[in-house]
Amino acid sequence: MTEYIVKIQHIERLTHDVKRFRVEKPAGYTFTPGQATGVAINSPELRKKRRSFTFTGLNQDPFLEFTIKLYPEHDGLTKELDRLVPGDELVIGIPWGAINYKGRGIFIAGGAGITPFLAIFRDLHARNELAGNRLFYANKTRGDIILEEELRGMLGDDFINILSREEADGYFSGHISGELLKKHADDLSVQFYLCGPPDMMKSMTGMLAGLGIDLKAVTMDL
Ligand SMILES: Cc1cc2nc3c(=O)[nH]c(=O)nc-3n(C[C@H](O)[C@H](O)[C@H](O)COP(=O)(O)OP(=O)(O)OC[C@H]3O[C@@H](n4cnc5c(N)ncnc54)[C@H](O)[C@@H]3O)c2cc1C
Repeated sequence: MTEYIVKIQHIERLTHDVKRFRVEKPAGYTFTPGQATGVAINSPELRKKRRSFTFTGLNQDPFLEFTIKLYPEHDGLTKELDRLVPGDELVIGIPWGAINYKGRGIFIAGGAGITPFLAIFRDLHARNELAGNRLFYANKTRGDIILEEELRGMLGDDFINILSREEADGYFSGHISGELLKKHADDLSVQFYLCGPPDMMKSMTGMLAGLGIDLKAVTMDL
């Protein structure tokens, strides 16, 4: 199995429970925006505790970037990642994953499920090809929205926020529904992209099927 040991260069807090990690990029390493890789911490006790994380930077960046939601109360890998400092090392694998850009469409994300779309949007934006894509982004509160300003800057009015536990001007309340989608998406015959926590994936696939959308044509990692 191909593995690379990479040093953490920079860590930045993005929300109350999300951090951005920038790490060394191995020579010649490339990925398709939307792909992920296995990540572990390079220490004897933690090397086998591997989880998948999505590349959120651009291929042309001189570093690799991960945007990671931390669960400090839970004894998983992210609790350990939360303790790391620049100079510590990660072990990463080769890129993999089913999410990649297949053309203009509707992106539906929940929480940290934004990460593959962040990579895709940044890549399209850098190439001036983002127009015509629309994001429906579900979170509990405004404080949970990852990189809201950057997403607004890239997507403008094609950035639609839905909050389940807060009411605020300019944000829809509740959950993403078929009615909301029909009202705020001009065309449902475009590509669909879906990424979020398991319960959201379940309700969103049900909702899309109810709208007559062929789930085999929906881009998602299940
Ligand atoms: C292809 C792919 C790409 C991914 N990309 C990203 C990414 O870019 N960014 C990102 O943040 N995550 C991403 N994930 C999720 C990530 O791999 C981990 O599942 C997540 O970070 C949790 O890891 P953990 O070791 O901390 O928790 P684990 O021990 O693996 O726990 C599993 C799940 O338990 C749940 N949990 C949390 N706290 C508790 C608790 N107190 N009690 C019970 N259950 C709890 C969480 O929902 C968690 O996902 C991706 C997953 C896949 C499959």
